Amino acid sequence: MAARLKHFGWGREGEGLTEEETDFILARSRERLGIRDFDLVRVPPLEELKLPAPRLAAPASLAAICSNALYDRAAHTYGKAYVDSVRGMLGDYANAPDVVAYPRTEGEVASLFDWAGGAGAAVIPFGGGSSVVGGVEPRFDRNRYKGCVTIDLREMGRVIEVDRVSRAALIEGGAFGPALEAALRPRGLTLRHFPQSFEYSTLGGWIATRSGGHFATLYTHIDDLVESVRTVTPAGMLESRRLPGSGAGPSPDRLMLGSEGILGIITAAWMRLQDRPRFRAGGAVRFADFYAAARALRAISQTGLHPANCRILDPDEAYNTGAGDGRAAIMVLAFESADHALDPWMKRALECCADFGGAPESAGAEDAHREGAAGRWRNAFIRMPYARERTVTRAIINDTFETAITWERFESFHATVKDAAERAIKDATGRPGQVTCRFTHVYPDGPAPYFTFHALGRHGALIEQWQAIKEAASDALIAAGGTITHHHAVGRQHRPWYDRQCPPLFAAALKAAKRTLDPQGMLNPGVLIDP
Ligand SMILES: Cc1cc2nc3c(=O)[nH]c(=O)nc-3n(C[C@H](O)[C@H](O)[C@H](O)COP(=O)(O)OP(=O)(O)OC[C@H]3O[C@@H](n4cnc5c(N)ncnc54)[C@H](O)[C@@H]3O)c2cc1C
Repeated sequence: MAARLKHFGWGREGEGLTEEETDFILARSRERLGIRDFDLVRVPPLEELKLPAPRLAAPASLAAICSNALYDRAAHTYGKAYVDSVRGMLGDYANAPDVVAYPRTEGEVASLFDWAGGAGAAVIPFGGGSSVVGGVEPRFDRNRYKGCVTIDLREMGRVIEVDRVSRAALIEGGAFGPALEAALRPRGLTLRHFPQSFEYSTLGGWIATRSGGHFATLYTHIDDLVESVRTVTPAGMLESRRLPGSGAGPSPDRLMLGSEGILGIITAAWMRLQDRPRFRAGGAVRFADFYAAARALRAISQTGLHPANCRILDPDEAYNTGAGDGRAAIMVLAFESADHALDPWMKRALECCADFGGAPESAGAEDAHREGAAGRWRNAFIRMPYARERTVTRAIINDTFETAITWERFESFHATVKDAAERAIKDATGRPGQVTCRFTHVYPDGPAPYFTFHALGRHGALIEQWQAIKEAASDALIAAGGTITHHHAVGRQHRPWYDRQCPPLFAAALKAAKRTLDPQGMLNPGVLIDP
């Protein structure tokens, strides 16, 4: 049996970075932050945690699927945001849910709503708990709600039916990435949705947050892969019709996509599948500077070639991940298909790169995406989530924020946001840090820039220091016309900027929809809108 998920950190108990990987990350941090030694603190183990006494107890009819054990409550207190790691490190579990429920059927979800509603409790839908925006933390007015029930969907994780003819599958909301892919693989099919959090996030969470997969263009957003959705709401079941497309009014699926657990619990969805790819071409291309790489990528994005991957890393980001030497920006480029060889696509993309001074490095080979700069980047991408538990304890502030902007504004936007974040680091910590950028997704009309920041904080002040940097960066990107999130969702953390971005009349319409589906306002209070 697999080890249980960690209550603090990424992945399962016993998993983590190797000593060699840790040394690499810390060496890069020392170099970039200009320090020799770190101030290391100890994380209290589970048995030392003191949680508030539970305010609720499950009724006998639901006791078999509910727990108020220390592990269950602690493991469902936080998602995976930077501040979550800091508070976990400090042993602060004041917002722990009172009860964690693991329903096995839609009927049990409905019964949990009935009980929680009667008890005046709030309900938090929980998938893998990989939210980086406070989406699963029971943080709300404790006087208004008489307790909190977190509903974890992990027992509803099956692939129920596969339709080979239409290439679609009915999958339960609690299915984790590896399990659903393992069930589809013998049929030669794939959902082909690979967020970086793939191993420890779920289909229901992806739909609820409109997640973005690893692939950079075309069908990579969960939005495009949803054929129909089943949602249990406090007001009853809401299920859309299975259709390849429909012009029948506003889409019920679109109401659930991005609903972040405030309208109901997504229990299953028919998902569009693809044949597993057999042909690949890829590699890495070096550019003298980031903006030259961005211009080349704009050209590629407007050709209609639709590369599976076309990330660009600025020189510092390339260096930090081991993909480059810090003197050049790197473009990681890949094509894949289940149907045809891709050499002409790769050749044309490399011509676009050459127009902007891009020089290929090991490009073209079928497995080039696993070798050289592209391969080093790929390994860093997969292992990165484990780094946080090694860095936060050393007072390193490292976090990411992501956005999207149209091409004609990109260069000034990037310069403004990077500058604001760098200044905020200096103001908040008293010393320079580093802000790097890559693209995670690219559209014909603009990129989705993804920023990473590194700073040396101080134990005891990490939350305030992080908050100041996050606020300055978020203010800058909203003022410059970007979105507060491209694929990390809104949650509780992004609310102030989402409120500025969201048209007021739309917010009012969303509140009206919530009143219909969740009349008591018990689902995920504080996320997206006020209860
Ligand atoms: C290391 C790391 C890498 C990441 N990489 C990516 C990435 O590449 N792309 C990306 O898009 N995101 C990424 N994320 C963010 C996160 O993984 C996504 O938001 C993901 O979709 C959340 O899925 P989950 O199952 O973990 O949901 P949770 O974190 O459990 O929940 C997220 C939100 O959805 C709600 N919710 C969960 N399940 C349901 C359900 N069945 N019905 C209704 N509401 C529900 C919750 O209430 C919450 O508001 C990353 C996070 C981490 C920590």
